[in-house]
Amino acid sequence: MDDMDPDDLPELCDKCGTVITEDDELYALVPDSSALHEDDPRLDGKRVLTACSIDHLGDLVEEYRRRPYLDEEQWAGKVCRVLEEQDGEVSLETLALATGLSEQQVDRGVAWHNARARAWQERYGDGCADDREEHA
Ligand SMILES: [Zn+2]
Repeated sequence: MDDMDPDDLPELCDKCGTVITEDDELYALVPDSSALHEDDPRLDGKRVLTACSIDHLGDLVEEYRRRPYLDEEQWAGKVCRVLEEQDGEVSLETLALATGLSEQQVDRGVAWHNARARAWQERYGDGCADDREEHA
């Protein structure tokens, strides 16, 4: 995506999908533990909402305010991102260093992830257990 100029892409309202002209763009930054920034870990856990009107922006902010912010979900996301770039076994220490988390946080994140993967399997069986929820 780096070779694309973001200015060329029309912004869509996260609520209704309407293409937004520059004059009507409204933004809000909300905490979201499932959000991971593509390349800047400091921006993890925050989601930029785009809306066509103040009403829709209000609806979206309200939606995210109701969604619980789980530290474990955020830690699990950071661990998964590191693991995707690694081959083979990775030690807890390496994971902690690479994610910027403490070893306890890595541990709890992994436990959270595993518990969810198990719950998914029990419910849907061995299928495409895609645990990456998109809240777009
Ligand atoms: Zn809208």
